[in-house]
Amino acid sequence: MSVIGYDLGNLSCYIAVARQGGIETIANEFSDRNTPCIVSLTSKERSIGSAAKTQIISNYKNTISNFKRLLGRPFDDPFVQNEMKDLPYKLSRTADGGVGVRVKYAGEDVEFSMAQVCGMLLTKLRSITEVNLKKPVQDCVLSVPSFFSEVQRRNLLAAARIANLNCLRLFNDTTAVALAYGIYKQDLPAAEEKPRIIIFVDMGHSSLQVAAVAFNKGKLKVLATSFDPYLGGRDFDRLLFNHFADLFKDKYRIDVRTNKRAELRLLIECEKLKKQLSSNSGRMTLNIECLMDDKDVQGAMTRTDFEALCAPLIQRVEKPLRTILQDAKLQSQDITSIEIVGGATRMPAVKSTIAEVFGMKVSTTLNADEAVARGCALQCAMLSPTFKVRDFTVIDCTPYSISLSWIAPMGEEGDMEIFPQFHPAPFSKMLSFYRKEPFALQARYTNAEQIHYPCQDIGKFCIDNVTPNQEGDGSKIKVKVRLNIHGLFSVIQASIVEKVCLARVVLLVCHFYFSVLSASTTLIKTDKTVFSHFSISNLLCTTQAPVDNQTPNPEPMGESTSPGDTENKENTNANNVKPSTEAAEKVEKKKVKVKSKDLPFHSQLYMNITEQEIQHMFEVENKMIMNDKLECETSEAKNLLEEYVYDMRGKLFDKYEGYTTEQDRTEFGKILEATEHWLYEDGEDEMKAVYVDKLAQLKQVGNPILRRYTEAQARPAAFEQLGGAL
Ligand code: ATP
Ligand code: MG
Repeated sequence: MSVIGYDLGNLSCYIAVARQGGIETIANEFSDRNTPCIVSLTSKERSIGSAAKTQIISNYKNTISNFKRLLGRPFDDPFVQNEMKDLPYKLSRTADGGVGVRVKYAGEDVEFSMAQVCGMLLTKLRSITEVNLKKPVQDCVLSVPSFFSEVQRRNLLAAARIANLNCLRLFNDTTAVALAYGIYKQDLPAAEEKPRIIIFVDMGHSSLQVAAVAFNKGKLKVLATSFDPYLGGRDFDRLLFNHFADLFKDKYRIDVRTNKRAELRLLIECEKLKKQLSSNSGRMTLNIECLMDDKDVQGAMTRTDFEALCAPLIQRVEKPLRTILQDAKLQSQDITSIEIVGGATRMPAVKSTIAEVFGMKVSTTLNADEAVARGCALQCAMLSPTFKVRDFTVIDCTPYSISLSWIAPMGEEGDMEIFPQFHPAPFSKMLSFYRKEPFALQARYTNAEQIHYPCQDIGKFCIDNVTPNQEGDGSKIKVKVRLNIHGLFSVIQASIVEKVCLARVVLLVCHFYFSVLSASTTLIKTDKTVFSHFSISNLLCTTQAPVDNQTPNPEPMGESTSPGDTENKENTNANNVKPSTEAAEKVEKKKVKVKSKDLPFHSQLYMNITEQEIQHMFEVENKMIMNDKLECETSEAKNLLEEYVYDMRGKLFDKYEGYTTEQDRTEFGKILEATEHWLYEDGEDEMKAVYVDKLAQLKQVGNPILRRYTEAQARPAAFEQLGGAL
């Protein structure tokens, strides 16, 4: 089984593979380890990745880039509405209120959801991996921005399924980087010692993410994360673009904002200029030929001017850095080093801002482009049963606090924070409720300011088949909730607890047994149901723990993904609301037998993608894969025919001349010429079978000529051999 890590960036992707010798990043069909996040649709097929990059200007209406940020967002989200202004392709509102893209594909107007577009990109990444490994790929770990909400995460998981990938974990970008950093460190402090604290900063194309991570031998724990989801390298490109667009309006009397092609070309040049200014402080120029109205344009900028222009953006870098110090309760002296990754951290002004805030030099120990993919591959290896990796525990945390609310039996509303911000994850908790009838729990992100998403809702979880206990009071209902390995919250189990008073059960069973035994022994043997029914219905203990009906009692559960992690459990205990009647319950436990029965439950998740929808999108994707394959084979068949025509035409009047009659030569020459014309005219866009047939017909005439020629070439050597033998 293959062990793969995919870093799905907003600009580009990286693929890392775990092999017995270590982690390796692999290259695509253009021998490039960086695969652009671009999907381009044409009248016939799709190009994805590097091949699509060439279409970004020529086919801009159908070439989709910058789409990771649109995934899982409602169409009405102000962020989407704002983003739409700068996108060269058309967005649409999907039936479920999400974001779709309207493109021309295979001669039709089609709408794809963002999950589908992401699925297309993942299909490409899978195919690159399969070509490289020469075997099918399924299991993988996918990177995800740590600030992604439930819906965004569920959409990414759906995209993986559309691409026929089995995502073992959605791994937060900065946690992946921390794992890639820590797993090879030999000198980490022992478990009982003070941990080594490292700050990781990842500034990519569209976002800035920061994590404070504590390392001990064999373990990393994310203490806190912070971010600016709307600040990345692309914002610097946009500032440069605005500067030059205004300049060219005055200088050349052209408004590039009115011409999409010119706008895209200028944006690309601005990114190049920005990169040049990272390594050169002098005056760097920007030249574009025929940008608009046949005008060549020229501009220039120094690093000082660039930094002055971008000062507001540079200032924004500070906020998440200061926030993390506060949230993780750290002072500069607690931190061992600041590790930076992501392309945008190459800007000197970004580096110096980070260094200033933390009061120390930044380190570039890790490969700035590949660290996330490498961390994902390592995590995949750790989760894969087929791979042996050194023991290393990864404890992540939730960036946002999660609360549950419910309506209590008397109609009053109950509300409780279940997972506070930065609570370790994955993690399970058990909650207890006392209810006589089915009830619902509403999950949501507690704090609107924490999330960078327009809706706090997570979903509604309904616990079914709840009945009163034998006394007609509320039954004890245990609900297990989990923040899972992908960072998703859900109810994973519900059960009804029935109590049986053991002391009285034993007493009465004995009494019953002896009295019945004397009358008829067969009754007990043959009619066990009658017996047990009778016992339970008559012997139920009437004492019920006087627990507050409104407040559930969260109990932390053991965590399978981080075994032996006492810290994990202690932390949760600190937040655990213990029942006030704990002592009473303990006494009661001695004489009360507890029987628990699973209850059915169902969930209504906010902006959910149903199984049926995923299956449908999977089928659509497969059809497109088949179509791409057919298109590829068709163009190969066409190329083969074209090559044959050229080759035969050249050789017919040259080296094959002596092996054909003049008449055959002339006739065959005419057929070849006609085929060549056909290929550029009527036959330019034919089905694969037509090219295959045409080639077969030509070979029927050409093969006898080729055979005569080959035999003649082989004859002298054969005679020589024969002569030698005689
Ligand atoms: P994200 O993490 O935001 O989803 P990503 O992972 O695709 O995006 P990266 O590949 O880490 O992003 O970084 C790409 C960004 O870094 C681009 O904006 C690019 O222009 C910028 N960048 C790359 N090299 C340099 C450089 N030398 N100087 C300045 N910026 C650079
Ligand atoms: Mg990135």
